[in-house]
Amino acid sequence: MKTISILGSTGSIGTQTLEVIAKLPDYFNIFGLSGGNNIELLEKQIKKFNPKIVCTKSEKSSLELKNKFPNIEFSYGEDGLCQIAQNKQNDMILIAVSGIMGLYPTLSAIENGIDIALANKETLVCAGSIVMKKAKENNVNILPVDSEHSAIHQCAKNFKDIQKLILTASGGPFREKSIQEMEKATLYQTLAHPRWSMGHKITVDSATLMNKGLEVIEAHHLFNVDYKNIEVVIHPQSIIHSAIEYKDGSIIAQMGLPSMHIPIQYALTYPQRIKGIKTNSFNFFQNSNLTFEKPDLNKFPCLKLAYEAGIAKGIYPAILNAANEEAVNMFLQEKIKLTDICKIVEKTLEKFDNIQTPSLNEILDTDNQTRNLVKIDYIKLARL
Ligand code: NDP
Ligand code: MG
Repeated sequence: MKTISILGSTGSIGTQTLEVIAKLPDYFNIFGLSGGNNIELLEKQIKKFNPKIVCTKSEKSSLELKNKFPNIEFSYGEDGLCQIAQNKQNDMILIAVSGIMGLYPTLSAIENGIDIALANKETLVCAGSIVMKKAKENNVNILPVDSEHSAIHQCAKNFKDIQKLILTASGGPFREKSIQEMEKATLYQTLAHPRWSMGHKITVDSATLMNKGLEVIEAHHLFNVDYKNIEVVIHPQSIIHSAIEYKDGSIIAQMGLPSMHIPIQYALTYPQRIKGIKTNSFNFFQNSNLTFEKPDLNKFPCLKLAYEAGIAKGIYPAILNAANEEAVNMFLQEKIKLTDICKIVEKTLEKFDNIQTPSLNEILDTDNQTRNLVKIDYIKLARL
């Protein structure tokens, strides 16, 4: 029996994780859950999974829930997430909050020797070197939940013999649209992802291909592979979830119908494989048309920017991430166009000098400065 906490249990990954766990009651019990605005769903999850501790976004909702569930401990905010993450009753923490909010709880769990199932890619983008070093020092496993990285983890036999990582991407809703059409993209069109149903932030990132750029940086840190050996391939059917090319020319890919249940379950049960939520066999005859394209970096400059920030390393990936998070927020509030996101990120990066080996404090300070800059100057940055 594994004891698990889920940070972000009311989100897309969080709810799918609870679906996996509900199917495997003999394997898992829940220690902690956390939600943001969706208190109604959090309440349902509390009743069904009976956690020991629950974290909410605000103190107010934490007090309200405490009245309804007096035997459960409640916490709130970032400190509350860390309080769950650092408790040694956990065997594993699944980090499924969105954005840099995942960083502190991830570090709290690692410092207490607790394994991580990591959905939150922004944590590795901002502070990959620090997180991976601490995980090694504390003998903690970081199991990727992101489907591409799970695929690579599943294909990897011997990291020293890897020649190339191949990250696949569906191409998002604008793959077949022109740059001019993308300029006019509405929020509704952007949130209609052709293959995956996900939270809003990652769905917008998938439309600009920033998501793939963040995943390139995530893969670099998780698997210690040079950027020049990480290739992105557009594969609209999303059947091949990613692949490794070995030195002898052999390519090993992981495939299946698009579903986050499989990478989630793999991370939770690793190193075991268990018959769980997915039971149907893959039908090759109904999925016989697999195609591959080169990404168009003119149409999707966010991918190029992410490679450049990753290669520049130091503080640049954290700036890329913070500027992108804020620009995506502006787009979700319909204050800017989809294509402004990349312009804002690019112009923001130009405003900072690099810090080659930033400390955690420097990363958090710069993250703050970047957000403030974008919040105030987003119109100017988009028009520069
Ligand atoms: P969602 O937006 O669906 O979920 C985010 C979770 O965080 C929700 O539980 C939300 O609560 C909670 N949350 C949001 N803001 C706060 C806050 N201020 N304080 C506390 N909790 C908060 O995101 P996803 O599940 O789609 O993504 C989560 C992470 O996983 C991201 O980093 C994403 O990149 C990554 N990922 C997601 C994939 C997917 O298929 N969805 C695939 C691969 C990676 P509430 O909903 O109650 O407001
Ligand atoms: Mg992914």
